[in-house]
Amino acid sequence: MERPITGFGFDDEGDSIAILSCGHPQHVRHNPPFINRSWVTTEQGRSSMLGKTLDCVRCDKFELPDSFVAYKRTPVFTEETLPAGLRKDHSTKTGVWAKIMVAEGKVRYRVPALKADIELSPDRIGIVVPEVLHSVEPLGAVRFFVEFYKAWEGDSRSGDRAA
Ligand SMILES: [Zn+2]
Repeated sequence: MERPITGFGFDDEGDSIAILSCGHPQHVRHNPPFINRSWVTTEQGRSSMLGKTLDCVRCDKFELPDSFVAYKRTPVFTEETLPAGLRKDHSTKTGVWAKIMVAEGKVRYRVPALKADIELSPDRIGIVVPEVLHSVEPLGAVRFFVEFYKAWEGDSRSGDRAA
């Protein structure tokens, strides 16, 4: 899916990486004549690309960014206490990922935009992708909670400080 660029950094080899709003890094190499991105070679060029979008396949694959850390979790929900809003399409904010962790029973997890309709269980965690509409539905008696993740503030890749 398309994600706006929120910052830039460099990998261990000094190649430019764009940081997307979802938290995923993506290489943005200038390698003429194969890849022409002369803008990556200057700070001004990189700044001009902030807010432009790149296709993030890691979001399409439900990959929680490596550097993200848990910061909050919901109470344990049952089929009786699950808030109605979570049964309907809803989404997390920009940059907020989550894990749906089932302790007992089964939960149906639907993400229409990513064509996912998954049965979650204690063996199968659901990954919630930022800003992507989804819904959950208890399949019988369940106990589950949602744990939220965001970028670790100390992450050296989360900005353009090195530039
Ligand atoms: Zn992404």
